[in-house]
Amino acid sequence: MKTVIIGAGAMGGLFGGLLTLSREEVWLVDTWKDHIDVLRSKGISIEERGEIQTVRVNATTDVTSVGKADLVLFFVKTYHAEKATSDAVVLQKDDTVFLTLQNGLGNEEAICKRVDRKNVMLGVTNHGATLLGPGHIRHAGWGKTTIGELDGKVTDRITRLAKVFTKGGIETEVSSKIHHLIWNKLFVNVGINAVAALTGLKNGRLLDYPETLRLIEALVSEAVAVARKKGIPIEGNPIETVKAVAEATRENRCSMGQDLDNRRKTEIDVINGAVVREAERLGIAVPYNQMITDLIKVMEKNFQI
Ligand code: NAD
Repeated sequence: MKTVIIGAGAMGGLFGGLLTLSREEVWLVDTWKDHIDVLRSKGISIEERGEIQTVRVNATTDVTSVGKADLVLFFVKTYHAEKATSDAVVLQKDDTVFLTLQNGLGNEEAICKRVDRKNVMLGVTNHGATLLGPGHIRHAGWGKTTIGELDGKVTDRITRLAKVFTKGGIETEVSSKIHHLIWNKLFVNVGINAVAALTGLKNGRLLDYPETLRLIEALVSEAVAVARKKGIPIEGNPIETVKAVAEATRENRCSMGQDLDNRRKTEIDVINGAVVREAERLGIAVPYNQMITDLIKVMEKNFQI
């Protein structure tokens, strides 16, 4: 199976490195030239629990040089998804599958603007990684990856894909209800990301203050109310799940936090911002999500001055 990963940052680099190690043919594509130069000359250095492993990988900035792909895996930030999809169309043959494991809502819509829905798959991953510099990532979170067809069918092609990922050390399951899982993962990002980003705290410290706990509970409760009204089944107790994830990733500075720290655009529009948009459509008030989205948006605007 020939896999082309669009977006070779923290997560693209991780999946690309792991799949290459399991002898899959993988190409990493990224628009960041310095990073690709290091990937080509040295490989991807993956830091795990203090040890560094460097994997030789195929990498390029020129997606047109790669030929056709069996699997296109998107790991760009969601605000780059549309552009990345139009770049990736050249990789397509009749049976090419396009999979996104990006966070938030709206990736499906971005990809389906340019790709036939029957060739698109969605997923969520509980792995966590940080880009430390050109060619260098840290793998700091482990967990299951789940993928699904848009129509919920458990097809041969998706079962094969899950096996390829699992063989590469990326434990992967197939779900017939991937949209529900995406919402349930969204609750975690809704509860943690913006609160950690604005307070400057690492994930675990969010549990140490009554104020941050109150904010998490309010944000997640609003998102759960929206999901319920949409008919999305809720898994377990989402507030307790968010707290458990914050505890399990205690030392992690979440990606939105890293984005604000580095004065970069965040994924707020597809996380708390997506809750606000869905709530508006359904006529539900979500003042906490509205406020936190507005605060992050103002900070982003200020970076551009
Ligand atoms: P990242 O910023 O480390 O990497 C994204 C890469 O995409 C960058 O290197 C950028 O140069 C590249 N890029 C942008 N536009 C491109 C284009 N048109 N073509 C090719 N490359 C392009 O981001 P990340 O942390 O790897 O996150 C990627 C996605 O995965 C996000 O949606 C994020 O929410 C999600 N995610 C991240 C983690 C994590 O722990 N980092 C975990 C789960 C999900």
